[in-house]
Amino acid sequence: MHSTPDITFVGGGITGLLCARLFALAGASVTIIDKNQIGQESSWAGGGILLPLYPWRQADAISQLVIPSIKAYPKLVQDLIDATGINPEYLVSGLLMNSLPDSDDAHAWSNKYAIKTSIASSKQRQQFPHIQDSSLYLPGIAQVRNPRLLKSLKQDLLQRGVKIIENCAIEKVTIKDNHIIEITSHTETLPVKQLVVSAGAWTGSLWPQLLGKTEPTSAKVFPVKGQMLILDAPIGVLDTMVLENDRYLIPRRDGKILCGSTVEHADFDKTTSAQAKQSLVNFAHNLLPELRSAPVIHHWAGLRPGTEQGIPYIDQHPKIQNLAISAGHFRNGFAMGPASAQLLYDLVTEQTPKIDPTPYQLSAQH
Ligand SMILES: Cc1cc2nc3c(=O)[nH]c(=O)nc-3n(C[C@H](O)[C@H](O)[C@H](O)COP(=O)(O)OP(=O)(O)OC[C@H]3O[C@@H](n4cnc5c(N)ncnc54)[C@H](O)[C@@H]3O)c2cc1C
Repeated sequence: MHSTPDITFVGGGITGLLCARLFALAGASVTIIDKNQIGQESSWAGGGILLPLYPWRQADAISQLVIPSIKAYPKLVQDLIDATGINPEYLVSGLLMNSLPDSDDAHAWSNKYAIKTSIASSKQRQQFPHIQDSSLYLPGIAQVRNPRLLKSLKQDLLQRGVKIIENCAIEKVTIKDNHIIEITSHTETLPVKQLVVSAGAWTGSLWPQLLGKTEPTSAKVFPVKGQMLILDAPIGVLDTMVLENDRYLIPRRDGKILCGSTVEHADFDKTTSAQAKQSLVNFAHNLLPELRSAPVIHHWAGLRPGTEQGIPYIDQHPKIQNLAISAGHFRNGFAMGPASAQLLYDLVTEQTPKIDPTPYQLSAQH
C-alpha cells in the first residue's frame, strides 16, 4: 500500500521538476511519475537559452513569464549548486542577434522590460563578417546547460525526499465526486490528493485519454520536432550566443558549440535526418567560418510541447477540484520555467499570483 503524497506530477521534464521543487520547499510530500526516465525528453534536447528567440514577435504572455524567470535563475542555480554540488552551468554569455528587420520593435521591447542592449562590438564585427548594422547585442542574456540543470534538479529533489517513479506511463484516472482519487499505469494504481499534468508534448493526447470523451476542456498541445547538433570546438572560438534567421549557436563553457534548430511537424517521430544535419552545419560554417574544422560530435531531436501561440496552459481544472495542468511551453520551457512553476504553485495553493493568470487558462485562446 502506497501512502498518498500531497501532490503528484505526471511528467518530469523541466516544467514538472521546477514546480515539484516549490512544493517540496514548502514541506509538501511530492511524487513525480514519468513514462521514461525524468528529464530525458524535450527538456534534455533543448538549447537552454534563457530568452525567447525574438520575444517582441511573440505574445506578451510569454514575456510575462520570461522576465521574472530571468531574474530568478541566479539564485535558483546557486541554491542547486550549494545543495547538490552539480553545476547547471548558468552562463551570462550574451546574445547577438543579426539580421533584424524589426530592430525598432526589438529596442521597444528591450526598453519596456529593462533588458540591456548595445551595438555589436568591434571584435564581434571582425568575427562575423556579414553582420549587419541592424544587429543587436543583449549582453545580459544567459544560458543553462540543460542536462546538467536537470541532473542537479533531480538530485536536489531526491535529497528533499521527493519520490520519483520512472518507466511508468499514466494511462487512466479514477474520478469520484469531481475529484481524482487514483491514477493508473500499465502495472500499478496510485492514490492521489492533488494531480498536475506536466506531460510536455504528450499532454494534448493524454488529457482527453485521462478525462474522457465528454471532457469540456481541451489542452491543445502538440509535438514540434527540433533537431540540433553539437560541434567540438576549442575553448575561445566563440564566447557569445548568436542568433540569425531563427537559427543559433550556443557556446558552452568547455568550448563545445550547439547549433539549432529545426522546427518540424512530424507527430511523435524523433528521428534525425541527414538533410537537417547538413542545413545546420551549413548555417554554422557560414556564420562562423572557423567552425569548418570543428567536427559534429552529436546530432539529436526533441519534441517541443507546441501550442498555437507558444503560450502554455497553467491552470486548475474548472470542475475537477484536484487537477491542474502545466504544459505547452513550446520553445521556451527553460526561459519561462521558474515563473511558470511559481504561477502553478500559487494557483494550486490558492494564493494570489504575482502575474495575471488569465492568458494561461484552459479556456483562453492559445
Ligand atoms: C531542439 C530544441 C531546442 C530548444 N531550445 C530551447 C531554449 O534554448 N530555451 C528554452 O527555454 N526552451 C528551449 N526548448 C524548449 C524546451 O526544451 C521545452 O519547452 C521544455 O523542455 C518543455 O518541458 P516539459 O517539462 O514541459 O516537457 P518534457 O521535457 O518533454 O517533459 C515531459 C515529460 O512527461 C513525460 N510523460 C509524457 N506522458 C506521460 C505519461 N502518460 N505518464 C508519465 N509521464 C509522461 C515524458 O516522458 C517527459 O519526460 C527547446 C526544445 C528543443 C526540442
